[in-house]
Order: sequence, then C-alpha cells, then structure tokens
Amino acid sequence: MTRLAGGRIIGTERTVCITTHGEFITSLDADGSEDPGDREIDIAGLLVAPGLIDIQINGAHGFDFTSDPKSIWRVGARLPEHGVSAFLPTIITSPPQAIDGAQAALRERPVDYQGAEPLGLHLEGPMLSPKRPGVHEPGLMRLPSLDLVRGWTPGGGVAMVTMAPELAGSQAVIKALTDVGVVVSAGHSAATLAEADAGFEWGASAVTHLFNAMEPFDHRAPGLIGAVVRHKSAIAGLIADGLHSDPAVVLAAWKWLGPSRLTLVTDAMAATGLGDGEYRLGHAAVTVEQGKVTDSSGRLAGSTLTMDRAIRNLINFAGCEPVEAVGAASTVPAGLLGRSDRGHIAVGRRADLVVFDEELEVVATMVGGQFAYVREGWAT
Ligand code: ZN
Repeated sequence: MTRLAGGRIIGTERTVCITTHGEFITSLDADGSEDPGDREIDIAGLLVAPGLIDIQINGAHGFDFTSDPKSIWRVGARLPEHGVSAFLPTIITSPPQAIDGAQAALRERPVDYQGAEPLGLHLEGPMLSPKRPGVHEPGLMRLPSLDLVRGWTPGGGVAMVTMAPELAGSQAVIKALTDVGVVVSAGHSAATLAEADAGFEWGASAVTHLFNAMEPFDHRAPGLIGAVVRHKSAIAGLIADGLHSDPAVVLAAWKWLGPSRLTLVTDAMAATGLGDGEYRLGHAAVTVEQGKVTDSSGRLAGSTLTMDRAIRNLINFAGCEPVEAVGAASTVPAGLLGRSDRGHIAVGRRADLVVFDEELEVVATMVGGQFAYVREGWAT
C-alpha cells in the first residue's frame, strides 16, 4: 500500500491522506489505521488532482502516431511528465490499412509497460469534409459507410471517431458507432446549424477542436458552433494554446459551455517536447517555429501544447478556478468516454493521480497506484 499524506485535493481546503492499494484508491482518511509496512510519502503543501486525460494527441518527442503507430507506447511512457495518466492516440485521415495497423499496434502492449494508459484510438478521419480539411489529405477522405467502420469498436481499439455529420450516409454510421460504444465527435465539418443539430440527434456527443476546421461563428448562420452551444449534453474539445483560438475566444467558450462541457485537448504533434524544426504530421511536412506548427501553406497543423500547460492557460484566459480547469482535463473527458473509474478522486476509483505544486507544475504522476513520473529532486 502507498499513502500520500498531508496534501490537499485540488478545490478543497482539507488535508487528506490518500491510500492506494493495487490500482485503486482505498481510503481518503487522515487518521486511518496505519500499518508500519505501508509506504508513506509526504506531500504537505502540494495539491492532488485526478490524472489528466488527453483525448486528442497525434504524437510527441519526435514520434507521429499516424505514420508510426508503434510509437504510441514510447510516447505514452513519457506523458506522465505532464500529468497525463490516460490518452487517446489520434490517427489522422489515412487509408484503411493504416488504421488496421494502428489497431494492431495498440494490441501489442509491451511487457512491463509503464506510462499513460491508451484508452483506444481517436480516428480523426477519413469521414471528413474536404471543405474543412486542415492538413488532412482531401484525396484520402471518404463518405461515411458501414463497410468502412466495420471493426471500429472499443474491443477493436477504437474509442472515438471524428466525422463531418453533414456527409451523406452519416446517420447510419453515427448510429452504428454509438450503438457499440464509440464516441462520435463532429469536426472537420462545414455543417450548417441544422446539419449539426441532426448529427447530435443521431448520437454525436462532442465537437473536435471547437472553432478550428469548421464554419466560423456567424450570428445568422452559427453552424456547428451554435449547435454545440445549444445541445446541453454535447462536449467540446478545445486547444487552449493561445494560437488555435484567441484567448478572448477561449473565454467566450468558457462562458458558453462552462466547466462541465469543455474538455482540454492538446492536438500535440511530434515536435512536442523537442525544439523548432521540420517534422511530419501524417503525410504532411510541417514546420515548427517558436512552438507554432504550420504546413507549407501556413495553416496550423497541430500544436506543441501539453495538458498541464493547457490547464494553466485556461485559468489565465478564462479566469476560472484551478479545480475547474483540472476538471476540464480529467473529469470531463472521463465522462465523455464513459470511464467512471477515472477523473475523480474517491474510494474505489483508480489511483490515477497528479501531484501539483502551487504553480500547477507537475511534481509527480501516479498511474494505477504506481509512480509513472517523479520530478527530479523530489524524493519519494
Ligand atoms: Zn483536426
């Protein structure tokens, strides 16, 4: 058993003692019966939060999941450095055999793997609108079809699919995917308000990188952005790097959607954790300059954001409470994915925890009761 003693759970004033046994939290009691054999770690003065969950990440540390899906495990091993305990490796628009390869890579879990847990792939494409491609290759895009999505199930390693709901054939595909428990998110879409409304009625429950790769918000034609605002159960992914949306627009999204309907995502790519230079995102060659990622025509092509920085940015941009920003990076994505064992600190939930200092820098990350990252110089 491991006991984290003397820290505060973020958003509360009470100091607690969190006891973990195996993969789970077994007690939150300050004065439980202490077994001298337990390992106790003093976290006085520090904050504890649920492990962060990034539902859109393309790669990091020089690796691109779409062109090299086996790198999921190497990158996952390093994500706890940023407080991430679970993630959805994201595969951008690709031919079917590349998607099969990513599903296979996810099944080949290395023996003794320690790192953030991949909860399934996020397939961002190929059922997207060529009118809003971003850096996705329009020639690889496909209309929705039941044939294409055969085998896209949670058991087959697919957790989430981004698609454009206005495409012919969407209704049957959204229903088929959501019936088996795959989360459908509307994105890379030119949908009108009515088309986006229909997508939510058919079962879509999220929007992919709100504001990016969709029709801009127009007060007479609010499109997908208007639809997500009025569908009270829909959740929006947001890249809070200050580049994909102006900080003032992040504030607007926060006012519109509030703490239970925004989920912070990184949309991070291979350059994350490395310096400026030339990289790949799927088939596209991209350039990173001062952390900003663009393709040859100057379009934004993913980010170099990390989840801990996204939390600090959201607090700065939206003026929200730290506990709310942390929730948007943990509790909200866990709920979207239907993972009730994650995203909360409570007895019986998984011991996926982040220890932050007062500046919300990551001190340590625990995944399933084991430390997967400890900051240099911090003794456990
Ligand atoms: Zn995208």
